[in-house]
Formats: sequence, structure tokens, C-alpha cells
Amino acid sequence: MARVYNFSAGPATMPLPVLEEIQAELLDYKGSGMCVMEMSHRSKVFQQIVDEAEADIRELMGIPDNYKVLFIQGGATLQFSMIPMNLCKNGVFDYIVTGAWSKKAATEAKKFGKVNVIASSEDRNYSYIPDCSDLPIDDDADYVYICENETIHGTTYRDLPNTKGKILVADQSSMFLSKPCNVSDYGIIYGGVQKNIGPAGLSIVIIREDLIREDIDPKTPVYMRYDTHANNGSMYNTPNCWAIYVCGKVFKYLKKLGGLEAMNEINKKKAKVLYDFLDSSKMFNGTVDKEFRSLMNVPFVTESAEKDAAVVAATKAAGFDNLKGHKSVGGLRASIYNAMPQEGVEALVEFLKKYEEEN
Ligand SMILES: *Cc1c(COP(=O)(O)O)cnc(C)c1O
Repeated sequence: MARVYNFSAGPATMPLPVLEEIQAELLDYKGSGMCVMEMSHRSKVFQQIVDEAEADIRELMGIPDNYKVLFIQGGATLQFSMIPMNLCKNGVFDYIVTGAWSKKAATEAKKFGKVNVIASSEDRNYSYIPDCSDLPIDDDADYVYICENETIHGTTYRDLPNTKGKILVADQSSMFLSKPCNVSDYGIIYGGVQKNIGPAGLSIVIIREDLIREDIDPKTPVYMRYDTHANNGSMYNTPNCWAIYVCGKVFKYLKKLGGLEAMNEINKKKAKVLYDFLDSSKMFNGTVDKEFRSLMNVPFVTESAEKDAAVVAATKAAGFDNLKGHKSVGGLRASIYNAMPQEGVEALVEFLKKYEEEN
């Protein structure tokens, strides 16, 4: 067995101890005589898996009792439509567009109402977060939307926007559980889990109870109503049982590491190794303004696309996989999520240093 250091943006690397536990339980989950993939979602043994997963994420994030935790399929992308469909009262939605994912979300929301882009960093290819302290929030805005960590562009918010009392909705897909989060600052926090938690095919939606409404457009498909999921313990239909099980394991693993405060310290230390290198390198340059650099996704470039490609090929040959940058930014991107060990980043930096010396 030869595992590589996998810098994929998603689906992404998983903690090895979690994979090993899953392997050990694969054929016979805790004496049930079957694999979790083979189990009825209505069984007692699976119900316990869901209940523990919910309890553990509640504990990790300190989720208040007036918030529901929903496990929904359709990826983060389905939430781009579910959010405006379920939160629509006045039909006015304020979006802060800081990269590809918030742009996609804003485009989708236009189908359901009037979208105001109240701030954008498109002028410099989304390499920073605009000042959000005094934005022209619409009096009628049903919510203010952000993507808190832009996976492709590698930016993150230092301070949440001042929403002037409006509900804040945040896509946390690529930063979920990477640091402490004050849930009550938000109306909805959601994310696909395949970046920083578990396998693809599941989104976790943390939603304040008063935002789960019954008086929405009656034509809303049943699966796309938050009340459907909330009233049925996320099991109106068959959920992504496997992903819920694996995420539950990751929650327990994060608790064992010391929770989100500890994770944040680990992540800061890890990202510093890479950013310090980029700041000292002549060959490689980070693409994001320093104060808005993500701890999770680190895009960087050389002086040319040819050189970028050569570096990507060299890293791959040396056991560092998935470092090719997204086409809209170019260059390279190292996604260094919770599950990427410090040694992986240190080894990559050693490699890039040597590469720079020799080329
Ligand atoms: C990957 C990603 C998405 C899309 O997720 P899917 O689960 O593929 O729909 C949305 N937002 C962010 C920030 C992402 O990183």
C-alpha cells in the first residue's frame, strides 16, 4: 500500500485513522452482521449512527437548541436553490460575490426573486474579500448570502459582514469544522461534506428553527422543503447512510483531537508552513491578498503556465497528488483541509524548495 499526499480540493483526503476504523467495521458493523451500506435506514442500529452524528456535530460546533441539523443529499449545489425557495418572503436576496461558488449561488437565486450583488471582488479575479462593514443592504432583503471560504480562489472572511439585522446565510463547504464558529451569528450554515469532512453526496444544513417555514410556494418539490427534512429527522426518504456514518466517525475523531479550537491551531500552523514558503520564494507566488488567505485552499502560481504544468507533473511524480490549480486561477492549488497532516505540507514545501533551487 502506498498512500500519496492528496491535495485535492474535493472529494478530498480523509483522516487515516477514520479510514482504518471503517475498514475494520466494513464486513460486520458492531456485531450487526452487516456493513453500514447494507443496513435499513429505519433500523435501530442506523438510527443510533444518525443520532450520535448529530449529537457530536452539535457538541463540536456548540449548536444552540433552536437550530436544526439536517442531512440532505444533492450536494451544496442543491442548497443554491433550496435557500431562496425556502427563505423567500419579499423575494429580494442580497449576495456578496467573492468567487465562483458565491457567483453560482447568486445566479441560481435569480430564478426565485431579485438578486442584489451588494459587494463583489470580481474586479481583481476574486483575490480578496471586499469591505463588508457598511454595505447597501436592501430593506426588503430576505437574507444576506456569503461563501465564507472560496474553494477555488482561496479567500476567506476575517470578519463576518455587517448584515444590519438581516439573516446571514453562509456556505462553509470548504471550511466546515476547521475552526470554532459562533452559530448564532447565522440563520443558515451549510456545506457539502466532501471537502473537509467526509465522502461526497451529503450536505449538512444548520438552520435556525424559525426559518423552517410551511408557508412557502406550495409547488416547491417535497424534497426541497426544509420542513420535510426537519419534520422527519432527515429521513423523509433514504438518506446518504454511508456518508452520514463516515461523517460521524470524523466528528468523533475531531473531538478526540480536542475539538475545533485545537483544529484551528493545527490548521494555522500547517498553513503557515506553506504561506511562509510562498512569501520567501522567488519562483512561486500566492494569488490572494495576505489578510484574506484561506487556511484551507492555497492557490499559487509561477511566472508562466508552462512552468506551472511542469511543477504539477514533478509533484505528482514525487507522490504529491492533485496540485493542479482550477482553470479560472491557473497555477497550482494545495488544499490542506483538516485531514492533511502537517508532515504532508512540510514534505511538499521541502520538495518545492528543492525544485526552485534546481530549476
Ligand atoms: C464544492 C463546493 C460547492 C459545490 O458542492 P457540490 O457538493 O459539488 O454541489 C459549493 N460551494 C463550495 C464553497 C464548494 O467548495
